Amino acid sequence: MGSQEVSTVDWQGKHVTVAGLGVSGIPAARALHERGAIVAVVNDGDDERARVQATELEALGITVRLGDGATLPPSTELVVTAPGWQPDKPLFLAAAEAGVDIWGDVELAWRLRGDNGRKAAPWLAVTGTNGKTTTVRMLASILEAAGLRTAAVGNIGVSLLDAVLGEQEYDVLAVELSSYQLHWAPSLRAHSAAVLNLAPDHLDWHGSMEAYAADKGRVFEGNTVACVYNAADPATEDLVREADVEEGCRAIGFTLGTPGPSQLGVVDGILVDRAFVANRQKHAQELAEVSDVNPPAPHNIANALAAAALARAFGVEPAAVRDGLRTFRPDAHRIEHVADIGEVAYVDDSKATNTHATEASLAAYGSIVWIAGGLAKGATFDELVTGAAKRLRGVVLMGADRALIREALTRHAPEVPVVDLDRTDTGAMSEAVEHAARLARPGDTVLLAPACASMDMFTNYNKRGEAFADAVRAHAEKSA
Ligand code: ADP
Repeated sequence: MGSQEVSTVDWQGKHVTVAGLGVSGIPAARALHERGAIVAVVNDGDDERARVQATELEALGITVRLGDGATLPPSTELVVTAPGWQPDKPLFLAAAEAGVDIWGDVELAWRLRGDNGRKAAPWLAVTGTNGKTTTVRMLASILEAAGLRTAAVGNIGVSLLDAVLGEQEYDVLAVELSSYQLHWAPSLRAHSAAVLNLAPDHLDWHGSMEAYAADKGRVFEGNTVACVYNAADPATEDLVREADVEEGCRAIGFTLGTPGPSQLGVVDGILVDRAFVANRQKHAQELAEVSDVNPPAPHNIANALAAAALARAFGVEPAAVRDGLRTFRPDAHRIEHVADIGEVAYVDDSKATNTHATEASLAAYGSIVWIAGGLAKGATFDELVTGAAKRLRGVVLMGADRALIREALTRHAPEVPVVDLDRTDTGAMSEAVEHAARLARPGDTVLLAPACASMDMFTNYNKRGEAFADAVRAHAEKSA
């Protein structure tokens, strides 16, 4: 079957087990039930919320089993799983043994697209360790500027199932895919896709770096026009080489330097395209200025180039790339400028929850007072600290695993002053900002880029970022 054709499944009477209630499980169970499948939902948890959800599904005629997500119902012909469920769960081992296919939410959306009689829009897909959400939003903004009906969907708040089965018809979808989702999406075939970067993350789930990379690499399978890789990250190019793509599909690189043929890059402060132009041996097409990228930090320019490459692969004109980048506004807590106080900039990158993201964020500023710490998730900090040591004016550490960062600082940047905050109450962030303000000199940036998850002290990274912004504003009032 051609990669962009819509496949049809006869759902009538098909026994489908949906693994996991929740954001993807409930809409999946409903959609399958509506199509005539005999649906059983299994769920590990058995709390109040699960019971309410179960009652609603049972009223429709869907079977729900709470408190046991491990055993496979005997008549199962297909398992549809929530993306986060770990592949070595007994349920999946039993399914594999019985020769039963396992699909994730993305696979289901891919298979169901177009079956409601609406146009099945092609997908432009983005994955990578960091920068996915930003890139997908930039891409959607560019596609919109080109007059296309589109949406940013996937691992980004808007479920793919809702997008493909909803009322709205799209010309093209900008799709963010996590490594978990890709793991469970064997037949997905994007029009074009990008892998932004590859750094160790979620290895406990995937089992190894190789398995993580292989799952990310699935995004390139069956691409028809372009596989977009990061020229500065050879592992992403390896994935293109290993992918089985449609004939004529091209490998397109992006680089912060001067682009070679079949690459997008930067020349004299201009984003240029040397891939989707006639005579690419000699020619490059101007797309936008670096200052059109918001904010113009190096890693964000890389994101913009990846988004531009996917848009250009879809045939978008250069002017729409520029307009789309100009109208793009980053989501909160991603190198978000909070305030300037006494010639010191305060920047919230609470979303930097791993060392790879923090490395990019530290690389974007000249002289930094760095606020870091939280849950390290098994990470080590030596490389991060070594790379940034020269630019650190000072460091304020907080959170459960702060000692790991402090030890790396002692080893690689012993001259940098460090404040170690031994408190986890709500006032901790205010104290961190006060210490940071004292350490900062005019021209410096106080940067919250924790390199750690937030859940030891905050509900999530949003709350951590809000606490920082509140503390900065309080500090501004005091200093006024
Ligand atoms: P994701 O959806 O992959 O988590 P986001 O766009 O939400 O990515 O950004 C997450 C974090 O990664 C932010 O802290 C941001 O500063 C950092 N980041 C964004 N783009 C990149 C990139 N290309 N390389 C490294 N870090 C990045």
